[in-house]
Amino acid sequence: MLEMIDLRKSWGDKTVLKGIDLRVPPGQVVSLIGASGSGKSTLLRCVNYLETPDAGSAILINGEMIGGPDPSHVSARLLRKQRAQVGMVFQHFNLFPNMTALQNVCEGPLAHNRGTKAEIRDLAMGLLERVGLAERASHYPSQLSGGQQQRVAIARSLAMKPKLMLFDEVTSALDPELVDDVLKVMRELAEDGMTMLVVTHEMAFAEDVGDRVIFMADGKILEDGTPADVIRNPQHERTRAFLSRAV
Ligand code: ATP
Ligand code: MG
Repeated sequence: MLEMIDLRKSWGDKTVLKGIDLRVPPGQVVSLIGASGSGKSTLLRCVNYLETPDAGSAILINGEMIGGPDPSHVSARLLRKQRAQVGMVFQHFNLFPNMTALQNVCEGPLAHNRGTKAEIRDLAMGLLERVGLAERASHYPSQLSGGQQQRVAIARSLAMKPKLMLFDEVTSALDPELVDDVLKVMRELAEDGMTMLVVTHEMAFAEDVGDRVIFMADGKILEDGTPADVIRNPQHERTRAFLSRAV
């Protein structure tokens, strides 16, 4: 599903990703943990080429590898194809403020001619239902709580029928009482078989929902295993130190 080979990324003289090798099979839910600045967001952003890696390849899905020795020369066609198959939700829900929840969810499929208006509306209503917000379809983002906005953002990503979903600390800007509803949506998505790469500080989520936990330190994967291995029985001192601070 996702294959990264020796992925590297620097900013100026700062090397942020120092050769990441990562294979994620279909249906796997991978939690990415690590200290601030360890490169988690950069790794995620390289998957859909929001950042261009300096070297190595990220991906793909359906066999077509993009990247290579000079990833800056990825064809526009491959890039579009890749992005269309990867959904991403960020910490700060970036909904269109002048559109209702329903319009936000319809926007992607409409822009990509993914069906008639009626079909897309039905799809979007189904997704709002799935995230528990059918009755808020006509609300604007400003009329929704942070957790509700984040659930609309997830529905909006799903409307493009992605094969892989990326989540970057989607609950960390939320008030604590709003976190569970968002995690519940993610949990259900995982149970439905979605392949997910999740940057999170929610160790309970990583442990209960994730199939696999990756601990990053200084732009490298330091530890990679089942939640039981990495969270309960870490091999490296740095992982232990991080976890003792996180919990
Ligand atoms: P956090 O937990 O704080 O979100 P992170 O693990 O997601 O951290 P990244 O955001 O990937 O870390 O950043 C890794 C390093 O790359 C940091 O030192 C950061 O300052 C640097 N960095 C990230 N984006 C840029 C950029 N656009 N330009 C320059 N440096 C950047
Ligand atoms: Mg980050």
